[in-house]
Amino acid sequence: MSDKSPTKAYGKVWLVGAGPGDPDLLTLRAARLLMVAKVVVHDGLVDPRILAMAPAAARFICVAKRRSRHSMPQDEINALLVREAQAGHDVLRLKGGDPFIFGRGGEEAESCLAAGVEVEVVPGISAAIGAGAAALLPLTHRENASVVSFVSGQCKGLTDQNWAGLAGVGRTLVIYMGLATAEMIADKLIADGLSPETPLAVVENATRPDMRVLRGPLAGLTSLVEREKVQSPALIIIGAVTARADIALRQMALEAQQ
Ligand code: SAH
Repeated sequence: MSDKSPTKAYGKVWLVGAGPGDPDLLTLRAARLLMVAKVVVHDGLVDPRILAMAPAAARFICVAKRRSRHSMPQDEINALLVREAQAGHDVLRLKGGDPFIFGRGGEEAESCLAAGVEVEVVPGISAAIGAGAAALLPLTHRENASVVSFVSGQCKGLTDQNWAGLAGVGRTLVIYMGLATAEMIADKLIADGLSPETPLAVVENATRPDMRVLRGPLAGLTSLVEREKVQSPALIIIGAVTARADIALRQMALEAQQ
C-alpha cells in the first residue's frame, strides 16, 4: 500500500439512475452495479424493490429527498459521498429517474471531482419518459408536438422562471415537482397566454403498480389535484398529446380484454 498515492486508495462514486420505479426499467449497468454494491446511498424516491436487489450485507444510507420530509441538506450529501470514497469505499449513489434531470447529480459529481474522487454516471429513465410510456402518452407526436420541455415547479424561484413559449400549440411541457405549486403553475401559464382549456394529464406513481393517470383542462388543475388527492411523486404534463383520443381508446380496449 505504501507505494500508492492517497488518491489510488480512494473508492469511486457511481451516480446511478434508478428510473421511475419499476425495477425492470433499470439499465443493465445499474442492475449489475447494484448487485455487487457495498455502500448504497439512496434518496426517498428509490423503489424498495430496487434496493432489495443489493446484497443484504450492503450498507444502506438513506438521504431521503421527498418533499416536506426531513432530508439531508445537499452539501452534507456531497460531503458524505466524498468521505466514504476517501475512506476507500466504492459508493453507489442511487437516485430516482436520471441523475442529471432535476437530481442534483451535477453538484454531487462536482464535489467528488473537486476532492479527487473518481465519478461515473449511469443514466436512468427519467420520470417523464417512464410516465409517457406507462400512460400511453407520447411526449412528441407528428400531429401534436414537436417540442418537449422539462421544468421544475418547485416553489423556489418559480415566479422568476420564464416558461413563455414552452407550452402551447405544438409543444409538450412536463413539470416535475409541481404538485405543491399547481395553482401557481396554472395561473402562470394562463397569464403567459395559454388557453385555460389546454389539456393536461397528471401522472402519479408512474410505472408503479399504483399509477394513476388523471386528465383535465389547465384551468381545472388545482381542483383535479385536490379532488383526487394526488400524492407525490407526480408529473404534470401539459399539451395536446395528453388528449389523444385514439390512445385512450386503445387503452380502454386493452383493459376490456383483460
Ligand atoms: N431525477 C428524477 C427527478 C427527481 S425530482 C428523474 O429523472 O425522474 C422528483 C420529481 O420527479 C417528483 O416530484 C416527481 O415530479 C417526479 N417523479 C419521479 N418519479 C416519479 C414517478 N414514478 N411518477 C411520477 N413522477 C415522478
